[in-house]
Amino acid sequence: MLIKNCSWLLTQNPKREVLRDCSVMIDDGRVTEVGSGSKNADVVIDAAGKIVLPGLINTHTHLSMVLLRGYADDMRLQDWLQKKIWPLEARLTPDACYQGALLGSAEMIMSGTTTFLDMYFNMEDVARAVKEAGLRGFLSYGVIDLFDSAKARSEQEKTKKFYDYVQSLGTSRVQFAIGPHAPYTCSPETLVWAKEFAVKNKVIDHIHIAETRKEQADFQKQHGARVVEYLDKIGALCNRMLAAHCVWLTKSEVTTLAKAGVSVGHCPVSNMKLASGGVAPLPEMFDAGVAVGLGTDGAASNNSLDMFETMKVCALLHKAHRWDATVLNAQKTFDLATIEGARALGIQNEVGSIEVGKKADIIMLDGHDPNLNPIHGKETVVSDVVYSDSPANVHTTIVDGQVLMANRQLVTVNLQQTLQTVARIAKQMVQP
Ligand SMILES: [Zn+2]
Repeated sequence: MLIKNCSWLLTQNPKREVLRDCSVMIDDGRVTEVGSGSKNADVVIDAAGKIVLPGLINTHTHLSMVLLRGYADDMRLQDWLQKKIWPLEARLTPDACYQGALLGSAEMIMSGTTTFLDMYFNMEDVARAVKEAGLRGFLSYGVIDLFDSAKARSEQEKTKKFYDYVQSLGTSRVQFAIGPHAPYTCSPETLVWAKEFAVKNKVIDHIHIAETRKEQADFQKQHGARVVEYLDKIGALCNRMLAAHCVWLTKSEVTTLAKAGVSVGHCPVSNMKLASGGVAPLPEMFDAGVAVGLGTDGAASNNSLDMFETMKVCALLHKAHRWDATVLNAQKTFDLATIEGARALGIQNEVGSIEVGKKADIIMLDGHDPNLNPIHGKETVVSDVVYSDSPANVHTTIVDGQVLMANRQLVTVNLQQTLQTVARIAKQMVQP
């Protein structure tokens, strides 16, 4: 495959080069050449007038939660969970999760996300949908043992069964991750078991940490330690861990995460919407060398899977919070959604930039759209992507060299059919 005449190409290579009027050659799902000159290829995509960039990476979401989008908003966290979200989730069938995952996949493809890290239940059905959609998904079953050893055993069995299922799918695009939900829903034994499983099987250990101040207060009361101190003490931290949120951390906890090699999935929109208070200490994480990626969290607390919006909100949140317009610039923010997100997932040698040898996960934006004009030059096109772009600008989405959307037409997901099925499921879900 050849993507030719790229008007702008944001490589995200180590020099963060922006190239003009160039082409990208793709063979067997990988980039084989980036440069000028016309070549022959079986498939040729003309990217004249397009801005070409690496696919965006969402490091924390709950895909099938798109089914709960807009159902319950503007509530306090505990009321929201107990009165609205949990009762509805109890009604989610395997088929509902499959259809939700298809809808979420369609949304991601149409908004330029090519890789994501997920946590939910009925994960075999989610995996099936992700495989069909063609996205690169790291999928974890959310383990919750509520400090009950019998439940812990059954959760471990479910996890192992899902691990085997993912291996049987036979695609490198769908990968297993282990998913201990949080330190307040999992016993220390389960947290350590998850870590050991992650290390042994070389998979991501996906967890929620320090989302709210209450979580920290409860740990102080129950364990005489802050959450990260507790996790360090029981031996649950490791360099395969990706911790979502990490809003309420001290500098000392950030240092502990950095020493253990833990990555962070920062979810600014969800944190603001759920009024988690506080702001994740990103500058301190950067200083300590923590790999940080961006996430949307589930669509019930966002309410979209829009990574362009997440980039913009992220940059604005930290500027407003620190009274400093320089604290997070456009390039750094774009890094978080691409190459740094890849680093947070441990796959920076495979995706996150458009470079020879890397997987061809590439998106194209329509440079003729009014909200992206004028483009002043190489120095400003990244600003356009971070501050002006929207999912509506995404024209083409490619994963592993496979076109998942061309000219805003989905190739792998039957959107009309999915919308109809989801509407039916949503109606059934809310019936008394
Ligand atoms: Zn979450």
